[in-house]
Amino acid sequence: MKSRYAQKDLTAAGTATKSIHCGITPDPVTGSILTPIYQTATYAQEQVGVDKGHTYSRASNPTVSVLEKKLAGIEGVEYALCFATGMAATTTLLLSILRAGEHIVCSDVVYGGTVRLIEQVLDRFDITASYVDASNPENISQAIKDNTRLIFIETPANPTLKLNDIKKIAAIAHKHKLPLAVDNTFLSPILQKPFDLGADIVIYSTTKYIDGHNATVGGALLTKNQDYHASFDFNRKTLGSIQSPFDAWLIIQGLKTLDLRIKKHSENALIIAKFLEEHHKVAKVIYPGLKSFPQYKLAQRQHLGSCHGGIIAFEVVGGYKKAIKVMNSVLLSTLAESLGAVESLITHPASMTHGPIPKKQRNKIGITDGLIRLSVGLENPEDIIADLNAALN
Ligand code: PLP
Repeated sequence: MKSRYAQKDLTAAGTATKSIHCGITPDPVTGSILTPIYQTATYAQEQVGVDKGHTYSRASNPTVSVLEKKLAGIEGVEYALCFATGMAATTTLLLSILRAGEHIVCSDVVYGGTVRLIEQVLDRFDITASYVDASNPENISQAIKDNTRLIFIETPANPTLKLNDIKKIAAIAHKHKLPLAVDNTFLSPILQKPFDLGADIVIYSTTKYIDGHNATVGGALLTKNQDYHASFDFNRKTLGSIQSPFDAWLIIQGLKTLDLRIKKHSENALIIAKFLEEHHKVAKVIYPGLKSFPQYKLAQRQHLGSCHGGIIAFEVVGGYKKAIKVMNSVLLSTLAESLGAVESLITHPASMTHGPIPKKQRNKIGITDGLIRLSVGLENPEDIIADLNAALN
C-alpha cells in the first residue's frame, strides 16, 4: 500500500516547509519519521536486470537520494546530485563540461580551491581560465573565446563578498550559447535563487550553511538540464565522488533548519558589521547589508528577504600585523578554515583558504594580507561583539 504521506504536494510550499518535508516520507517499513541511514555497499537484485532503483553505493544510495530530492525541491529544479565534498562537485562539473584544450571564463574572486583545481590539475589537460572582474558583466563578454565552454561565477565571492549580477551574466552566457554555473554556497537556496535568474547549474559546498553544524564535508550539483545531469551522474559514478550515506543523513537533519538559521546568521552579521564599522580600530568593513557596501543596490535586488548571509570581511587599522593579533586573540570565535555553521569562525584568507592564489593576484582582487573573514555564528551577537572588542583592543 502506498503511504498517504507520499501524496503531499509541496510545489507551492514555502522554503521552510520544503527544507523540512521535501524528499521525505515516513519509512514504509517502520513509520520512522527520520530517513533511515542505508549504510550498505550493495543491493540484492531479485533477478538479473531487476533491481529496486539502486545497485551499488558508488552509483547511488537511498539516503543520499533523499538529500538530493530535498535540495532539488527547495531549488525548484528536477536534478540534484550530492558529492563527497564541494570540491568533488566542482571537479565533476568541470570534467563533465570541458575537454582538453578548452576554456572557462571565471569570476576573479572565487574559492582558492577552485583556482587550484583549474591551475594545478586541469592545466595538465591544457584547460585554461580567464579570471575577470565579473562585477562588470561586459568583462565576461570580452573574455569569451572560440574554445570557451563554461562561465563560472561565485556571488557573493569568497572572501571579498564582491557580487555578480546573475541575470545579466546569464543573458551574456546564453547569447554565446554557453552554460552559466553559479557557486551559491554563501547565500544558500534560501537567500538567492540563481535558477530564477537564468543560471544553468548551481554548485554548493554543503559543508557550509546547508549542513550548518560543522559536522560534514559535502557538495551538490543542481541543474534543470537532463543532459548535464546525466553527464554529472556518469562522472560521479566513474570518479567515485558520491557522498557517504551517514554524511547525507547528517546534512538532511541540518538542512531542515536552514531557513531559520540563515536568516539568523544574516541578522547577527548585520549587527556585528555595524559594530565593526563604528570601531576606531577597524579600517574597513565589507558586508552587503551595509549602506556603505559598493554594490548595495544589487544586493537588495538579488538577495532575498533583505538578508545577506553571515559572512563579513574586514581590515583593521595597522594592517597585517594587527590583523594577525586579532585572529590570535579571539576566544569565542574559533580561528579555523570553513564558514557557515552555528559556531563563529574567523579566518585569514591570504594564508588559509586563498593561499593557493599567487600573492600578486590576491592583492589585485582585494585579498590583502590584512583581510579578516568572519563567519558569524548563531551565538548571541553581544557575546560575539564582546569577544571581538576585547581582541581589537
Ligand atoms: N565553494 C566555496 C564558495 C567555498 O567556500 C568552498 C570551501 O570553502 C568550496 C566551494 C569547496 O567546498 P568543500 O570545502 O566542501 O570541498
